[in-house]
Amino acid sequence: MQPFQYTRPFGIDQAIQAGALSQTSQQFADARFIAGGTTLVDLMKLDVERPKQLIDINALSLDQIQPAPGGGLVIGALARNSTVAHHPVVQRDYAVLSEALLSGASPQLRNMATTSGNLLQRTRCVYFRDTAHACNKREPGAGCSAIGGHNRMLAILGTSKECIATNPSDQNVALTALEATIQIQGTKGTRSVPINEFYLKPGSTPNRENILEPGDLILSVTLPPPTAGSRSLYLKLRDRAAYEFALVSAAIVIRTNGSRIEYARVALGGVGTVPWRSHEAEHVLQGHPATPAIFRKAAEAALKDAQPASENGFKVELAKRCIVRALTQSTQTA
Ligand SMILES: Cc1cc2nc3c(=O)[nH]c(=O)nc-3n(C[C@H](O)[C@H](O)[C@H](O)COP(=O)(O)OP(=O)(O)OC[C@H]3O[C@@H](n4cnc5c(N)ncnc54)[C@H](O)[C@@H]3O)c2cc1C
Ligand code: SF4
Repeated sequence: MQPFQYTRPFGIDQAIQAGALSQTSQQFADARFIAGGTTLVDLMKLDVERPKQLIDINALSLDQIQPAPGGGLVIGALARNSTVAHHPVVQRDYAVLSEALLSGASPQLRNMATTSGNLLQRTRCVYFRDTAHACNKREPGAGCSAIGGHNRMLAILGTSKECIATNPSDQNVALTALEATIQIQGTKGTRSVPINEFYLKPGSTPNRENILEPGDLILSVTLPPPTAGSRSLYLKLRDRAAYEFALVSAAIVIRTNGSRIEYARVALGGVGTVPWRSHEAEHVLQGHPATPAIFRKAAEAALKDAQPASENGFKVELAKRCIVRALTQSTQTA
């Protein structure tokens, strides 16, 4: 790990000014915010991240969870994953988020990990984390060791010939199904960005993963008011039952009237280069009876553009089955 300067500002403006010192974007910037540290410190130890300045944002008052004006819930950037998962309003109105958070990492990690840190966690592609291998995300233009290498865990949707890395987060899949927005403050003021517009697919610049600019600080995540009468669910399929990233996951928010589907949101994890919203599956479900045949049709639609690599073709069928099972469970009468 290379030497770095450490600061712990007590004001948001002060933190943003310090963050804006870096000329590069958030990824690999010289000046980095640190929240729980469970992603960033790991990557610094591996020499993947080499910030010259660490700006500890834990003294900022950004950990509250409170009702949003007009309905919904505002989750502060520094609210810990365990606090959010066990919050009574989250458990009651946004079960998919609670379930997603509790399916991730371990209790110890969830006690440290924050909402904003989770939004910005990096891929678990083994080549990204090993500086001995070529990786376009780490070093633009270097090549991609995963294409033709070990890619069993990697993405089948939204990939490019430059990068097939998966966004590994569970939280972000749930937030996508819930249509959350992200509040950001930067040197030019504050803005609110729908999660669907926050992440960037790799294209020819896999080093740039989101729309953040130098100095941009995530302040909070807002969940819209819950859809009346809806149920939500997170289903995660993985190699072992705990302490493991998703091979495939599905986040569902759904409302039925009788057997007819009136409202459906479908997001997938473990398969996309970004948390994957499937408008195609939602379109198939909307207005139709909640039957196994329509669930399978929705799953086929969600995966129709899948482009597996050499080792992860199994994810196509696994993802379809995950969607069908999640839809079945979320529409079963209690
Ligand atoms: C062993 C292990 C297993 C795991 N398993 C899972 C799993 O199964 N599922 C899962 O989803 N995750 C898993 N994780 C990842 C974990 O969820 C993340 O490490 C964690 O959420 C990151 O949060 P943090 O607060 O520690 O982030 P940090 O490491 O502090 O920061 C991460 C990034 O976010 C930036 N950042 C943080 N806050 C802000 C802000 N407010 N504004 C702008 N930038 C900010 C930092 O600069 C940094 O780049 C695992 C991690 C480990 C180590
Ligand atoms: S898939 Fe992406 S992160 Fe993995 S080696 Fe290729 S460029 Fe790097």
